Amino acid sequence: MPEGPEIRRAADRISKKIVGKEVHSVNLIYPPIVEFQEILQQSQIESITTRGKAMLTRFDCGLSMYSHNQLYGRWTVNRRSTEMKWNRSLRVEFLTNKFAVRLWSATDVEIIPTSKEESHPFIAKLGPDILDDSCTPSLIYDRLKSKKFYNRNASSLMLDQSFIAGIGNYLRSEILHQSGIHPSAKPRSLSDDKIQSWAETTKFLSELSYDTGGFTVSEKVALAGKQRGEPKRAYRHSAFCRNDLPCHYCGTEIVRIRVANRRLDFCPECQDLCEN
Ligand SMILES: [Zn+2]
Repeated sequence: MPEGPEIRRAADRISKKIVGKEVHSVNLIYPPIVEFQEILQQSQIESITTRGKAMLTRFDCGLSMYSHNQLYGRWTVNRRSTEMKWNRSLRVEFLTNKFAVRLWSATDVEIIPTSKEESHPFIAKLGPDILDDSCTPSLIYDRLKSKKFYNRNASSLMLDQSFIAGIGNYLRSEILHQSGIHPSAKPRSLSDDKIQSWAETTKFLSELSYDTGGFTVSEKVALAGKQRGEPKRAYRHSAFCRNDLPCHYCGTEIVRIRVANRRLDFCPECQDLCEN
């Protein structure tokens, strides 16, 4: 599933083509939103923003399109002349003179009043957005130390969108590995230094992934992995999809476990529960 950084990059890419540009056609193909076709066709797109893994496309008529890609939704940006040949269902299409911006397959698409965005059931539950400037390491530190969260397992906390919005499966493995936190550790049992490092790594890796298009290691580390013949899914991370490969820090094999049916890759040496 795309995580916060991927959705934010998609929003940036789409914004460049349709925000403040002349959009000739807005086509709402997805049945639950078809009724808004006419009003949105007559409106301009003011901004596109993200909240966690959700995207909000705001129109100047006071309406917003809320979309969440879940596992299968996909945005594409193409020249209008490019023919799209694939087996997905088209949901929404924006056409300018030159470009076609399309949303495919997503089923979580709604039109809501812009003024009511914050009370949308998904958005209302979200914690601070990891990519927002206001979400600083010190804010994350305070949340880790708060009564609401300090007794939770690290592995479940990292995916809880009400704790921090925008972190998903690969970032979870990466953040825990690079801050040396065992998946079962609870903030309440960790030292302040450890929590500080966890908070800083959470922010740093999310921004790094946004800046680099999904890399959570330095260019040098990624290149070395590539030269060893590792696949991209492995060399761009330090733990995730590196199961059975040696840990960059200590050489121990990275181990894959499943938590709540989602994969989690970690180093049993660097992320030793006893030492936390
Ligand atoms: Zn290690």
